Amino acid sequence: MVTDAGTATTQTPDLFVYRERLERAQAEMGQQGVDLLLVGPSSDFRYLTGHDAHTSERLTLLLLPRDGDPSVVVPTLEAPQFVSRRDLLNVHPWEETQAPTDLVATLAGDLTGKTVAVGDQLYSVFLLRLQAAMPGVQWVSATPTLRALRMTKDGREIEALREAARRTDDAWEEFVSKPLAGQTETEALGRLRALTADRGLKGVWGICASGPNSASPHHHTGDRVIREGDAVIFDWGGTIEGYYSDVTRTVHVGEPDEEFRRVYDLVLRANQVTLDAVGPGVPCEALDEAARDLITGEGYGAAFLHRVGHGLGLDVHEEPYLVGGNALPLETGMVFSDEPGVYLEGRFGVRIEDAVLCTEDGGERLNEATRELLILG
Ligand code: ZN
Ligand code: ZN
Ligand code: ZN
Repeated sequence: MVTDAGTATTQTPDLFVYRERLERAQAEMGQQGVDLLLVGPSSDFRYLTGHDAHTSERLTLLLLPRDGDPSVVVPTLEAPQFVSRRDLLNVHPWEETQAPTDLVATLAGDLTGKTVAVGDQLYSVFLLRLQAAMPGVQWVSATPTLRALRMTKDGREIEALREAARRTDDAWEEFVSKPLAGQTETEALGRLRALTADRGLKGVWGICASGPNSASPHHHTGDRVIREGDAVIFDWGGTIEGYYSDVTRTVHVGEPDEEFRRVYDLVLRANQVTLDAVGPGVPCEALDEAARDLITGEGYGAAFLHRVGHGLGLDVHEEPYLVGGNALPLETGMVFSDEPGVYLEGRFGVRIEDAVLCTEDGGERLNEATRELLILG
């Protein structure tokens, strides 16, 4: 997926939001026996600090001790970006001639026998150097600590996700008012992406898969010309305040045959039974099972090639994953995709995807672009 690039955070941030998140992370660290949390530029970093730091060969790293103040180690040339966060973080710039991992080890102090949790998205070159600079430490993944925070969205996050979904739907309504036949996948997707970006979404990404290509769930959009008789899948989105939309619609160019209609109807029902299964306390895997049981019962089980959904937030794919084997219970405030699909190799595929919010009363769709089968020219 394409990431949300270049959204500089120059306006005065609401630091209290991030102070509270850092404190909640510390409480979680206490519960899980983590002494120090290390997070490189990533959605985790952005979630905790509000700053969209960029990944490069120069180390930027957030250090959050279980007790005490958070720090950030940052290349001197990027330190000015942290001026607005001085009340939130101790900023430690490092010079070009310094080894930043030694600075991290010095700031961390002696952690022999202690546990350090590391964010998933840190270059291995940095982790290897940190491990050499901090011997005798037990290294664990920070995901169990951070997913507890990130999976459940607060009111502001839900508003951003809702707005991203609404504007993405709006782009679709305009997009489908024109025919597709004769355009390449790249051209058709380009128009949809432009309509989406026109509505203020950043980092707009997408997939267009036409005809037999639609049977490949993560097809690389190319120069195939869309023509009469094609199923065409569009899977796309963008961000509002860093929060993603992710929606898929499948259309048909010209009259579809009977099997396409049957499969489309099946996937539509699978999308609905998944939504109907949503509620607090329901295991993630039960959602996948709801869709899979229905699709399998109608003879297409082997053609449902992926899990039914994934969490949605600052990352387009994040926890929780709605997949067999994941017994994690859903909670109010979780937002995830509901995206069953059926893929018949060499012929066509159908996927229908909405973002869904788990509320006390069940699932609420954030996407309302029409799910009825659209037949375009
Ligand atoms: Zn995907
Ligand atoms: Zn998608
Ligand atoms: Zn998705």
